[in-house]
Amino acid sequence: MSTETQSHIFNFSNTYTALPDLFYSKVLPYKYKCPKIEIFNKRLARELGLITEGISKEELVNILSGRILPEGSEPIAQAYAGHQFGHFTMLGDGRAILLGEHQSDTLGKVDIQLKSAGQTPYSRSGDGKGTLYSMLREYLISEAMHHLNIRTTRSLAVLSTGEEVYRHAAHNGGLLVRVASSHIRVGTFEYASRFVGKEGLKALADYTIDRHFPDIATKEKPYVALIKAMIDRQTDLIVDWMRVGFIHGVMNTDNMTLSGETIDYGPCAFMNTYDPATVFSSIDAQGRYAFGNQGNIGYWNLAVFANALLPLIDEDSDKAVDVAKAILQTYPETFSRKWLHMMGAKLGFIYGEPEDEDIIKSLLEWMHKYKADYTNTFLEIMGIKTPDHQQYDQPEFKLWLTKHRDRLDKSNADGQQLMADTNPLYIPRNHIVEQVLNAAAIDGDFTQWHTFMEILETPYTLKADTSSYLTVPSGVDEEYQTYCGT
Ligand code: AMP
Ligand code: MG
Repeated sequence: MSTETQSHIFNFSNTYTALPDLFYSKVLPYKYKCPKIEIFNKRLARELGLITEGISKEELVNILSGRILPEGSEPIAQAYAGHQFGHFTMLGDGRAILLGEHQSDTLGKVDIQLKSAGQTPYSRSGDGKGTLYSMLREYLISEAMHHLNIRTTRSLAVLSTGEEVYRHAAHNGGLLVRVASSHIRVGTFEYASRFVGKEGLKALADYTIDRHFPDIATKEKPYVALIKAMIDRQTDLIVDWMRVGFIHGVMNTDNMTLSGETIDYGPCAFMNTYDPATVFSSIDAQGRYAFGNQGNIGYWNLAVFANALLPLIDEDSDKAVDVAKAILQTYPETFSRKWLHMMGAKLGFIYGEPEDEDIIKSLLEWMHKYKADYTNTFLEIMGIKTPDHQQYDQPEFKLWLTKHRDRLDKSNADGQQLMADTNPLYIPRNHIVEQVLNAAAIDGDFTQWHTFMEILETPYTLKADTSSYLTVPSGVDEEYQTYCGT
């Protein structure tokens, strides 16, 4: 291990390495020759209580790029497997290295991970690196998600590496410093179940419960409770994605966390025009991860999770399957109930009424039929004039609005605040994300980036002169494609 371990910037422990050895590999980050900090999230650094005073810029670059290890760091790459587009594969951190677990007063224990830190034993044929463009993209969207009040991994910094990476052509290399409640995935449990054995699986489950679900530790059947708790967390998360039109794009089981945070922003995108079949990912030809299919895929992934846990549920495998099935069967109802509640909140319904489902569904049908913008439709319902305003001057919509008014009056409570808290004005619209990233990653010009990030920091607050952020040039989405693992 490196001897250059002195800077005390993090308050590190390394509890993951107490798990059996098969769960990780000790590995040192690749030493980039001239890394440079392009973006540093000062606010997050403060929230994490990082000690950066007295540390020179050069030292900070060295630490954040992995050139030197800060005090307490025992870097590892984590092993995991996963179902990718339905097929089981052995994976693991192929380009990410966990520096350590930082203990903070406000955010608790978090992983500090370098993404694009070079090759690991799990890299397969990959180079262990990433483009500056894709690292900035993860920063931008993960931070936007955080400000939209959606659970997510965070981004502390993006560095340019000073090296080129090859993805059909040469691109500027980048590195992301990711902050996560942990990096335990459904795929980590699949890996444990297949390759580590029952004792290892139990160790992982106990570790996860201790770290993420402390209140179920004392339950009589903690592993059954773990499946229930995951159904709760993941349905909350996916419903929150549906609230803002977020399409994760690659909901493989290795990209579903036990913490309930959104992770891996490769091919994700935001839906503009409402259509549940919306897909932007270049490799999702079947629409497996389409906007409207995310709830179903969450169910599928949790069935894989429950299957991995079977050995801990009952010695008798038939009994274990029966127990797991009974819990899983609660997923569809849980998801629908939460989805309805969320859509009701978007419409200002403080208390649910039996007719709500019809009101919601007729609105969605209208949006789909007239290719209305998902975000702007809710703004118009709130009385905010968007650049699409003319589209809403239409008899069918006006009729729907009267029904909505009547419903609001009936509830006898002011739903305006609820709507304002639920419906964002600003989302990272794809064409703007691309413009901003091209300027930053290719031309090194961060002017648009800073303007855009400022808007995305308070997405529920109307700002002057921002109408260009509320509209999409025609034809843009039709051609828009996103990619994995760049
Ligand atoms: P992702 O699509 O980011 O979820 O990654 C899927 C798997 O591919 C993970 O095991 C990654 O670590 C791995 N991977 C992605 N890009 C690279 C790369 N450039 N080098 C090595 N492994 C990679
Ligand atoms: Mg991944």
